[in-house]
Amino acid sequence: MAAPTIDLTRALLADQFNRPITYLRISVTDKCNLRCVYCMPENGLPWLAKADILSYEEITELVRAAASVGVRSIRISGGEPLVRKDLHRLVRAIASVDGIEEIALSTNALLLSEQADALCEAGLTRVNVSLDTLRADRFEQIARRPGLDRVLAGIEAAIARGLAPLKINCVVMRGANDDEIAAFAEWTRSRPVYVRFIEVMPVHENVDLQRDAYMSSDEILERVRSIGRIAPVEGPGGNGPARYFAFAGAPGAVGVISPLSHDYCERCNRVRLSADGKLRLCLFGDQHIDLRAPLRAGASRDDIAETLRAAMLIKPERHHLELGETSSRMRAFSEIGG
Ligand code: SAM
Ligand code: SF4
Repeated sequence: MAAPTIDLTRALLADQFNRPITYLRISVTDKCNLRCVYCMPENGLPWLAKADILSYEEITELVRAAASVGVRSIRISGGEPLVRKDLHRLVRAIASVDGIEEIALSTNALLLSEQADALCEAGLTRVNVSLDTLRADRFEQIARRPGLDRVLAGIEAAIARGLAPLKINCVVMRGANDDEIAAFAEWTRSRPVYVRFIEVMPVHENVDLQRDAYMSSDEILERVRSIGRIAPVEGPGGNGPARYFAFAGAPGAVGVISPLSHDYCERCNRVRLSADGKLRLCLFGDQHIDLRAPLRAGASRDDIAETLRAAMLIKPERHHLELGETSSRMRAFSEIGG
């Protein structure tokens, strides 16, 4: 990873609420090889045209501008990022940007075992794998495609290559997979994995499912406690949006992410870049700034950095989404950088 040689006397990004913004989540594609019921309609979405999607060179230039104002951590997401050709090329380019300290990937891991070597060599440091069930038949119901064996192979490949800490994101849905909370938690007693249970969030496509299947993180933690005593622990590399707990002596830990509660917003240090170059200031808000147009019109790195600073003025203090509501603009997280 490149040593930081940035001029730290220049103002770094912080929003109006004094939250330093150091984390950029980048969607490299809106497409996916799964169709998780809480995320995408069965027939997919109206995909972006190829010409509208940022090239790797354009993404890297935006990362350079972001790093110059204090962004240190990059997460590559989607859609499913591993379906985009030669993703390792982008990882390598970002790894060479001054100031970038960490490059993580969020993936469904279907294609991870075959790409793990190239990604690691390119400079990938961490991986989050989405996995909602440990049962093959259920995987096919939730993801609407088969593939549990490939996901598990991807997880093992990531552990074997030292892509640690490995986080598993599990969206909990009452009546669909809540009876597996204990099995996932049990996993953390024998493997170095951080299983993070996520409350299902509303998007335009899933509002009925979300209303019926929502389970709070308090209830999720009660289920975990039913199999053993857990104590709060520090999360890997800071907590971010999750709160972590571990069984005594366990190599892994359990986390909960409660996006519908407001303390999630208090710790927000992130902005998102959509595959077509929109900087999104809040997961659930409409606030965004187009970076693609100025970039393609020849804006300099300093101009883009100025635009990033200006964007901080419209980052909201919190979202105001409540249980049972939906974000009308957002059909799926894959539109905005997962
Ligand atoms: N395809 C990759 C994956 O699944 O990890 C990256 C993109 S995916 C949109 C990023 C994360 O968002 C996944 O962990 C997924 O489970 C989560 N997600 C998607 N829709 C969600 C929803 N409605 N509620 C909660 N989490 C959701
Ligand atoms: Fe694809 Fe990830 Fe959405 Fe599932 S959650 S459909 S894997 S983008």
